[in-house]
Amino acid sequence: MSRLLLVSNRLPVTVKVEKDSVAVARSAGGLATGLRRPHERSGGLWIGWPGDVSRLSDAQRTRVEAQLAEQRCVPLHLTSSEVNRYYEGYSNRVLWPLCHYMLDRIPRQDRDWEVYRKVNERFADLVAKQYQPGDIIWVHDYQLMLVPGMLRQRLPEARIGYFHHIPFPSSEVFRTLPRRDELLKGLLGADLVGFHTVSYVRHFSGSLLRQLGLDTDVDCITWEGRQVRVGAFPMGIDADAFDALAREVGVLEDVASVRRGAEGQRLLLGIDRLDYTKGIPRRLLAVQRLLEREPSWRGRLRFVQVAVPSRTQVEAYATYREQVNELVGRINGQYGTVQNVPVHYLFRSFNEKQLAGLYRAADVMLVTPVRDGMNLVAKEFCAARPDDDGVLVLSEFAGAADEMRGALVVNTYDIEATADAIEQALKMSETERRERMRGLRAQVKAHDVHWWVSHFLGRLQGLPTVSVNRA
Ligand code: UDP
Repeated sequence: MSRLLLVSNRLPVTVKVEKDSVAVARSAGGLATGLRRPHERSGGLWIGWPGDVSRLSDAQRTRVEAQLAEQRCVPLHLTSSEVNRYYEGYSNRVLWPLCHYMLDRIPRQDRDWEVYRKVNERFADLVAKQYQPGDIIWVHDYQLMLVPGMLRQRLPEARIGYFHHIPFPSSEVFRTLPRRDELLKGLLGADLVGFHTVSYVRHFSGSLLRQLGLDTDVDCITWEGRQVRVGAFPMGIDADAFDALAREVGVLEDVASVRRGAEGQRLLLGIDRLDYTKGIPRRLLAVQRLLEREPSWRGRLRFVQVAVPSRTQVEAYATYREQVNELVGRINGQYGTVQNVPVHYLFRSFNEKQLAGLYRAADVMLVTPVRDGMNLVAKEFCAARPDDDGVLVLSEFAGAADEMRGALVVNTYDIEATADAIEQALKMSETERRERMRGLRAQVKAHDVHWWVSHFLGRLQGLPTVSVNRA
């Protein structure tokens, strides 16, 4: 078995400091869970940023390094200026809005490209240093789009995969980026480039044709004497874990308590990072529209919206937060009573157990981003419903809509239609709810995160040996 070198912006760990003690804890996220087994079993390494450790004492830092090494993690430390310009700057202020079709959120001055390039180079240098012949390298996400190309220069024979976790936009949008060609060539350093959906694959191929004149032959491109494959690999979740959590006694007690608090009411649920791609304002407007046009629902709906603080250093997020606050206030002011308000807005994060309780308590889950690479919350909701109940309202602009046929799929830009879908969900018969949920659960379980990992790695490993034209 080949060693696996995983490369991502963040290591799958959190460094926890309490007084003098310091500990490195494994993160719970989907990627970390899915890749844990292959990472450990292959005896491989995970290379990435461990978070800010600059305030640690020398002794604490030494302990962190030792614990990281034990977990086979290789840290790449970033200075605060690199975090500010490579991560928050180019990655989150330019590439994130671009890939989500939000061109007007991109700053007019492109000041951070050089730092993005340099940090990608630092990653490539560190990976090349760790590399041993026969290793398989898997690079993750938009923060590291140049890394495959830089690695190809350093390691012409290496087997390299790249997965893009966010949407890849239409070539008409991608072409607006001044550095479009460099980024495309960066990805072409890989042997296999993976996306969540077939549309993203097509968009990528469209950009290759338009920008570099490269023709894709089904799923294969010839570039600098090598064959580069592209494919759709929809990411899944740890479905069994969510299913098991949702059956735990403690979680069921939480469910009962949430339901008691909403007695006589139907429960709508939204769970998102507070990100302008998640469509929270339009979702609120759809709930407001429903209350406006159907007075019979007033007092009978409770909409719990969890908004996890995110990227608070980026200005666009602060403005968005104010917009959401104002809308929540307006709707509650208009439709609240002394006893009750329709929108319960929680600006904080929850752990998986608490999330499982909320998922299982909900009547209707609203996943209505204006654009989302996949959206794992939609899948977690279904996995957490061993009772086969609950309705999923899902935006057609989430990658998940390609697979989740049992959902009520909506155009989130159409507020009236979204209000219709919420009402249809609320009125749906138990038989239909169960039938849809059973289908959704079967799909989420069959295509879980372990399936995703083995599907991608299987494809990458099975590719013919790299033939390099050194001429
Ligand atoms: N999540 C969490 N705590 C919260 C809310 C969300 O841990 O309070 C997790 C959730 O379980 C999911 C992830 O955050 O795994 C969100 O992933 P998704 O693909 O839906 O959106 P992203 O935030 O990656 O854009």
